[in-house]
Amino acid sequence: MTEHTPAGLPGTIHHWIGGVAVPSLDGRTFDVADPVSNTPYAQAAAGGPADVDRAVAAARAAFPGWSELTGRERARTLHRIADAVEDRREQLAHFESYDTGLPITQARGQARRAAENFRYFADVVASLGEEAFRQGNEQFSYVVRSAAGVAGLITPWNTPFMLESWKLAPALAAGCTVVLKPAEWTPLSASLWPEILTAAGLPDGAVNIVHGIGEEAGQALVDHPAVPLLSFTGSTTTGRHIAACSARHLKTLSMELGGKSPVVVFADADLDAALDSVVFGVFSLNGERCTAGSRVLVERSRYAEFTRRLAERAGRVRVGPPADPATEVGALVHPEHYARVLGYVDLGKEEARLVAGGTRPAHLAPGNYLQPTVFADTPRDARIFQEEIFGPVVAVAPFDDEAEAVALANATEYGLAAYVWTSDLKRGHRIAHAVESGMVWINSHNVRDLRTPFGGVKASGLGREGGAHSIDFYTEYKTVHVALGEVHTPRFGGTA
Ligand code: NAD
Repeated sequence: MTEHTPAGLPGTIHHWIGGVAVPSLDGRTFDVADPVSNTPYAQAAAGGPADVDRAVAAARAAFPGWSELTGRERARTLHRIADAVEDRREQLAHFESYDTGLPITQARGQARRAAENFRYFADVVASLGEEAFRQGNEQFSYVVRSAAGVAGLITPWNTPFMLESWKLAPALAAGCTVVLKPAEWTPLSASLWPEILTAAGLPDGAVNIVHGIGEEAGQALVDHPAVPLLSFTGSTTTGRHIAACSARHLKTLSMELGGKSPVVVFADADLDAALDSVVFGVFSLNGERCTAGSRVLVERSRYAEFTRRLAERAGRVRVGPPADPATEVGALVHPEHYARVLGYVDLGKEEARLVAGGTRPAHLAPGNYLQPTVFADTPRDARIFQEEIFGPVVAVAPFDDEAEAVALANATEYGLAAYVWTSDLKRGHRIAHAVESGMVWINSHNVRDLRTPFGGVKASGLGREGGAHSIDFYTEYKTVHVALGEVHTPRFGGTA
């Protein structure tokens, strides 16, 4: 506990099943620590197959009532959830910042976005219609959408509450009931869901939360035969494992996985804007952002200038306690992750040229702090160029022409996001089409439009969420055909 410990921390974080806070059936718990003191501040229930089974049963019991409401009725509840999130925005932001190490100002933004997710999907579902097709006067066909069933939602520790809302909102809008398994390093903000959902009048059992370790609670959800669809956000390694396990039950999957997104900066770009965007894109959210532009490719004629300015800016980024409103980069989420990121920094010193950061700021101890780090002259086959580091670390490399820029941009197994900076818009579009990624921003940083599909190609994911794509994922279609006129069935076997 420090002077920054938020008020109202729960000593114990329970599961929430059928509208009731419950411990694990076998009573097991695990420690939860903050990333500044790295000492436990709470115990969370450690769920296993029996707890998941109980949660799935509660979700199944709530399914008929919730899924049979009209879209408009569900939308009203979703708006009330958004209201309840907004009412608790300060507490949510402080819990999130304390638990994850995110700077408080950025945690506030994430809480705002969580409320927006509910409002957005409320509006989508309220206006959702059905499709109909007519074949002359012979046949009429219509397509009914219905909720796909109990959805399993598995989420990571970066911006946990916002990412939970990113799945809960469309799942509930579509009429699914859910079992959510939050990340074990950051369960604190999820402990506010029961209060929020109850205040909004969501029926008991529509959302159930089982905390626990991925390999136990998460795995039980993946293996549960009564959960026909899984929405997973997390690492590519876990995503591959879940996809393999899901084959047995042919589950419908949505996978938002890792990234190593390129930023391509041409010599004719507005360098100041590109620099602002690169610094924000890779260092905000502590660099623990799936769409971070963590590989920066700069046209050779501006390469030295850009790299020098980037290193200077990285040196000026304010690293500090997450609760301090002046902090721009807080503490990395967990000592294990911190050690992993530091391992990449050590490796980077062998593979490339360190031009900024690379160490803990001298005035900050204890805590998982790292000064934003820049590596220049990074070879294409370097591991720091290829692998997701998921911290405030960026690898920079030069290119000579457009073809080389595209080749370097595509030279990893990932394909989540990409960014292009150029004053030649035709070239911007050419690069956007040539780059292997699910999303591209031209002369723009990571601005989202919730109507657009979000997701990646290659090792960055499977499927898309966002806009109508989310509703598609959480619903099943059924086509009903009805004859309108005389029936002309082909006659087998002649007449009677
Ligand atoms: P992770 O894969 O370790 O864990 C994610 C979740 O999966 C956690 O809740 C964990 O408990 C659970 N899990 C672990 N093993 C499991 C198993 N065998 N069965 C079921 N569940 C299991 O990922 P992480 O380290 O928490 O998150 C960071 C990763 O998430 C990064 O790779 C990042 O890029 C990615 N991410 C992607 C997006 C996106 O939209 N593409 C967004 C945020 C984060």
